[in-house]
Amino acid sequence: SGCIKVKDRLLNKIEEMNLSSEIKVIITGCMGPCHLGPMVVIYPDGVLYTKVTPEGADKIIQKHLFLGEIVEELLIKDSNGTPIICKDENPFFAKQVKIALRNVGLIDPTNIEEYIAADGYRALAKVLFTMKPEDVIEEIKKSGLRGRGGAGFLTGLKWSFTAKAKGSPKYVLCNADEGDPGAFMDRSILEGDPHSVIEAMAIAGYAVGSNQGYVYVRAEYPLAVERLKHAIEQARERGLLGKDILSSGFDFDIDIKVGAGAFVCGEETALIASAEGKRGEPRPKPPFPANEGFLGKPTLINNVETYANICPIILRGADWFSGYGTENSKGTKVFALAGKIKNTGLVEVPMGTALGEIIYDIGGGIPGGKKFKAAQTGGPSGGCIPQKYLNTPVDYESLKELGTIMGSGGLIVVDEDTCMVDFAKYFLQFVQDESCGKCAPCRLGTKRMLEIMDRITRGEGKEGDIERLIELGEIIKETALCGLGQTAPNPVLSTIKYFRDEYEAHIKYKK
Ligand code: SF4
Repeated sequence: SGCIKVKDRLLNKIEEMNLSSEIKVIITGCMGPCHLGPMVVIYPDGVLYTKVTPEGADKIIQKHLFLGEIVEELLIKDSNGTPIICKDENPFFAKQVKIALRNVGLIDPTNIEEYIAADGYRALAKVLFTMKPEDVIEEIKKSGLRGRGGAGFLTGLKWSFTAKAKGSPKYVLCNADEGDPGAFMDRSILEGDPHSVIEAMAIAGYAVGSNQGYVYVRAEYPLAVERLKHAIEQARERGLLGKDILSSGFDFDIDIKVGAGAFVCGEETALIASAEGKRGEPRPKPPFPANEGFLGKPTLINNVETYANICPIILRGADWFSGYGTENSKGTKVFALAGKIKNTGLVEVPMGTALGEIIYDIGGGIPGGKKFKAAQTGGPSGGCIPQKYLNTPVDYESLKELGTIMGSGGLIVVDEDTCMVDFAKYFLQFVQDESCGKCAPCRLGTKRMLEIMDRITRGEGKEGDIERLIELGEIIKETALCGLGQTAPNPVLSTIKYFRDEYEAHIKYKK
């Protein structure tokens, strides 16, 4: 969106005005609101300038930094047209609680010193010098942290399974194969704060008894791969990865495996197969990866956002972390707001925040004066939530009750103009394309469902098509081998549940 040009102009102007000794330009990761970029925050005042162009950069230097005046035309305005000067006063930021994203958009991700200055690697030191592996696992268990990649399994419990598993060596894997359309929080963490994942993986290695970690990251994320590689090298140079970390006697290193971008490789057994250099296909469980994972050895797999929560839990304690959220869903969750919503981008809120609060108070509501129609959570594995459930607290249990899932945190909003049948068809087409073909229910079942959806949207739907979709969907959910197939019918089933009239209208009013 032109950030590089803005940065270059800022640097040139600062040099031209002989201000280089007084003003530094720090490049950070994404601050969250995609719709406002490129953004410039002036510290220590905290003034936020949005949609900055190279000409805007000139004004920031001349007016703000040289004359001490605010550049009003680059400020964001509230609904009454009043300019909001500081970043922290902007509702988009003010209503968020950032744990996983704590450093993203704040520090220079290419500079380990900045991460260290933000308490980086202090959790690793605390663990290595003051905690036994079982204490670490106990703390994570106590925090109530659940996997942020989709299934929501208790992280501490997962760590304890790998720690107890017999076999050696053990491996720690990071799932950075974020493939949900509309979700990009893992990419943002890797691009904006790669050390938080590296440090957490080293802590996990110490806790479960592993000396080797791998990050499996999709090839479509070249900047994330570059930042991660750079961060791993820096950590090795500083003695924070490799042999005898911080002279503690504990060895741990991390390598990167770049995936080729198959959605199914986000499923842990497919990811492991792909990381081993085999075809990325899921296999039945058990055995679970905790017992037989990478190269047949005990393996811990968590996703990027899950790891990003680990260091704050170690440093600030399980009780602090579990103070956020609901009874069974602790902490915060990052959501990627996309679709028909004013403020698109990444937001992190406590679990249990009402859906309406996320969409209206942080997301700014629906653009163009249109009405909200539904929000899809969980991407192609999830379902839609209609307007009457806008008060639903967003946590694992509540979403499940509504027939959808948290997934990795994609939140796609649609307005009154969206056809829900087309919308569901888009996701079904996606999973049909991404089905690995190993089992019949998913390979053939989703294809048959797509054929029915196709004819309905072409205006050639037949009587009984809705029932056929429900029957096929239920069978696929029960019989498919992996999570991709088991959740593939969700978008169709949930749109039938809440917007059946739209399906009926398509079938009734034929061409
Ligand atoms: Fe492959 Fe689909 Fe079967 Fe999963 S459910 S193994 S993606 S065919």
